[in-house]
Amino acid sequence: MKTVHDPSDMQSLARCYRRQGAKVGFVPTMGSLHEGHLSLVRRARRLADCVVVSIFVNPIQFGPGEDFEQYPRDAKRDATLLSDEGVDLLFMPRAAEMYATDASVFLDEDDLSRGLCGAKRPGHFRGVLTVVCKLFMLVQPSVAVFGRKDAQQAALIQQMVRDLNIPVEIDVVPIVRERDGLAMSSRNVFLSAEERRHALVIWQTLRDVRKRFRGGETDAGAACRLLVDRMRAAGGVVDYACCVDASMLKPVEQLRDNVLVAVACTFGRTRLIDNTVLGLPDALDAR
Ligand code: AMP
Repeated sequence: MKTVHDPSDMQSLARCYRRQGAKVGFVPTMGSLHEGHLSLVRRARRLADCVVVSIFVNPIQFGPGEDFEQYPRDAKRDATLLSDEGVDLLFMPRAAEMYATDASVFLDEDDLSRGLCGAKRPGHFRGVLTVVCKLFMLVQPSVAVFGRKDAQQAALIQQMVRDLNIPVEIDVVPIVRERDGLAMSSRNVFLSAEERRHALVIWQTLRDVRKRFRGGETDAGAACRLLVDRMRAAGGVVDYACCVDASMLKPVEQLRDNVLVAVACTFGRTRLIDNTVLGLPDALDAR
């Protein structure tokens, strides 16, 4: 596996791959990798001839007081995991080379980014879209793989690619969970054993919402109330529990197929997000 730090070296290599006619699959990450990230890598492997993974803890998507400095980093372990997965190229740019000190062009989205995490993290999706767009310019992938764990992010990237005519196919893969059901996240290491036990209420209640929906329940408000009540009862500080249309992220009153049930909740000092899409297969059903 080749490792590249310099954005212009990345762009030259991307041009080489193109000239050779190789289909490039791309997985952008912030590192501190787990099985969720590796499932994206395996998917990219299946879809493309050549797999590029980026690791970049993107400073501009963290707000003041968020955990940019504390975000877990383990470049050596990450490189070993990716090399074992047969990744062709690891791109690890440095912040100073990604953003000029006088950078003044950023990507804003006006609709889908307003609700859910966007309402609580102003500027977050501006940072995400800007970096993903820059990474697409540098890596020039044919296909890029994202996780449904960050469902709002995936919807926004699909919208960005459509609205800006970026020639890349977006593939979205299901959430990978720990054995106890908690959605995998690089931030799970911050949970104490007790917080982690309490946080299981998230997936348990998402599973219950799926069961109720299959049993004929269609009241979206009742589903949200159930989620909020149970997360609070477990000691969580609830950011949101929403039922929205999975592609345009507009709130719905009735549960139906293709409704995204999404939550964000803080346990201790760790903000967790999780979700399920009704009508799509979900590993939650087997639990
Ligand atoms: P991150 O490193 O947190 O920025 O995530 C990089 C990519 O991995 C994003 O597309 C995430 O949605 C995806 N991802 C993170 N956690 C999971 C998970 N548990 N299951 C599936 N995909 C995930």
